[in-house]
Amino acid sequence: MSTVEQPETAAPEATVLGRLLVIQQAIDAMPDESHIASFVSRALSTLPGVDEAWVDLEGSPVAPSARMAALKQRCEREISPVPVLNFMRHLGSGVQCFPIDAPARRLGWLLLTVHDEDALRPYVAFLGNIAGTMARILLGRHYQARLAQANEELREARDGLEQRVAERTRELEYRATHDQLTGLANRALLVDRLQAAIGNAQREGRLIAVVYLDLDSFTFLNTGLGNALGDDFLRETARRLRRLVRDGDTVARIGSDEFVILLTGLDSVERSSVRLSAMLAAVREPVPLAGKETVVTCSIGAAVYPLDGEEGELLLRRANSAMLRAKNSGKDSIQLYASTRDAAVAERMELETELRRAIPAGELVAHYQPKLDLATGELSGAEALVRWNHPRLGLLAPSRFIPIAEDSALIAALGERVLLQACLQARIWQEAGLGNKTVAVNLAARQLRDDSIIATVGQALHSTGLMPSMLELEITESSIVHDIGHATYLLHQLKDLGVAISIDDFGTGYSSLSTLRNFPVDKLKIDRSFIHEIDTVPSAAAVVLAVISFARTLGMRVIAEGVETADQAAFLHRHGCDEIQGYLVSHPLPPEQLMLRLREATPMPWAAP
Ligand code: C2E
Ligand code: MG
Ligand code: MG
Repeated sequence: MSTVEQPETAAPEATVLGRLLVIQQAIDAMPDESHIASFVSRALSTLPGVDEAWVDLEGSPVAPSARMAALKQRCEREISPVPVLNFMRHLGSGVQCFPIDAPARRLGWLLLTVHDEDALRPYVAFLGNIAGTMARILLGRHYQARLAQANEELREARDGLEQRVAERTRELEYRATHDQLTGLANRALLVDRLQAAIGNAQREGRLIAVVYLDLDSFTFLNTGLGNALGDDFLRETARRLRRLVRDGDTVARIGSDEFVILLTGLDSVERSSVRLSAMLAAVREPVPLAGKETVVTCSIGAAVYPLDGEEGELLLRRANSAMLRAKNSGKDSIQLYASTRDAAVAERMELETELRRAIPAGELVAHYQPKLDLATGELSGAEALVRWNHPRLGLLAPSRFIPIAEDSALIAALGERVLLQACLQARIWQEAGLGNKTVAVNLAARQLRDDSIIATVGQALHSTGLMPSMLELEITESSIVHDIGHATYLLHQLKDLGVAISIDDFGTGYSSLSTLRNFPVDKLKIDRSFIHEIDTVPSAAAVVLAVISFARTLGMRVIAEGVETADQAAFLHRHGCDEIQGYLVSHPLPPEQLMLRLREATPMPWAAP
């Protein structure tokens, strides 16, 4: 086997230069600097003339030989610490030293121990280049890392800043739009919301109530109890008002004790009246402050879009002027900004507010109109007719407030009061030795829809000790026809208590005689419109006669109301009517006067044969 000598194909210089070029390209292409030191050390160690190469970088993991470590120490001692930019240093023969320098900073050393300086001499500059390339790469990476870190820091700082700015903006926005004390909207936000609400209402054809609510005599409380408790009171008021509005409505505080509430999406002015009453009542509820129950009332004024104005500022002004009217008319009340168009509504709302207060205050009193028994010529009893002893308007007739009470559910409380007064009165007649006089009480249609009426009547009888047979309940036909099934059930229940039932205003409703047959009815009360025309209009007289005979057939009694003349009385007497009631016998009287009247005998000139 012969070995063939490989001919030297390239000059040694070209080989060294070629290797150095490859090394430099390899350094350039290295993905990271972690192997750069060991790679360069190994690669340079293979150069002709080189004994050993060592790269020392900051934190280089490659451990130097003892000789190299000693050389490095010498380099550090003898070469200026100021960067010399990759300048080769001779540390005596056999040693080449290249600092790996970046501007203003030394990154490491490239050390070669050399046995053939001549072989390496032409490439010393190139070796310096390699040190320079390493420096560039290390520095570039270093800057990149620093840059990435700086970017990251910057991004964090920016995110933090943006978040703080956003928080602060929100806080400022909140402060700019809210009342600090109560957290309610302030005037600025109120104006915005009102503007938006007007836009919505216009599109949907709905109403908005702009409600101005001002506390009565709050300044007094504030000076009396101190600002801190005054603040507590305002916060509590804010809480109560907020509870009364729906989503989309706004409660704002626009002055120390002034609030504005926007009620949106309303269908009618009347609907909103109930909600205004609720606000008045909620504010008036006692607030415990410093261990004492504090009561502060308020005055409410309201203007309605679009009836009272189509523009926000105008509506606010008008609501305010309505509120001032409420203040001037004695406070603790509600006023609408009433253009003549809604004067009726305004009065109604005002009366409702007042009625709420008047019922517990005992301003509702029963007057009594006697009934005369035509067979005996004696007063058989009396009907309780409620009146409102209004502090400002005087004695009000039921037509002024019963419909309001029926609409607002106040009728139950009102009815209960009258019932109780009437039962008590009938007991007083008995105690006074006036004999068994019945008392009649009117029931409203709404009362006849609620099962609680049974308990209410039972309770009134029980607490006054009145015999049930002395109580008569008057109901109108219309209140039964609403829900005949339920009404029949309730009437039977009432009947079971032992009270008498009579149909009021009979002839004006639509109940057919056959349905009437199924009701447990004791008495028919012929409406006064027939009585009025009894001696002038033949058909009226015919109806009266028909009713009398119908009642007779079914075993019911008949009473005629609104009897004003002796002729009417004579006609009724002649045709067998049992009782009469009307101005001829007596107007409705206050209880004391009725007592006197019950003692007197009633002359019956019309009964003369
Ligand atoms: P009503 O029950 O039919 O009462 C008769 C009404 O006719 C009373 O009016 C009475 O004052 C009036 N009246 C009596 N005699 C005559 C007369 O000879 N001629 C004329 N033109 N009128 C006469 P008032 O007191 O104004 O009551 C009106 C209505 O209010 C009552 O009609 C009744 O439906 C209702 N009402 C009265 N009190 C109460 C109550 O406590 N509860 C309920 N739910 N309704 C009541
Ligand atoms: Mg009646
Ligand atoms: Mg009547």
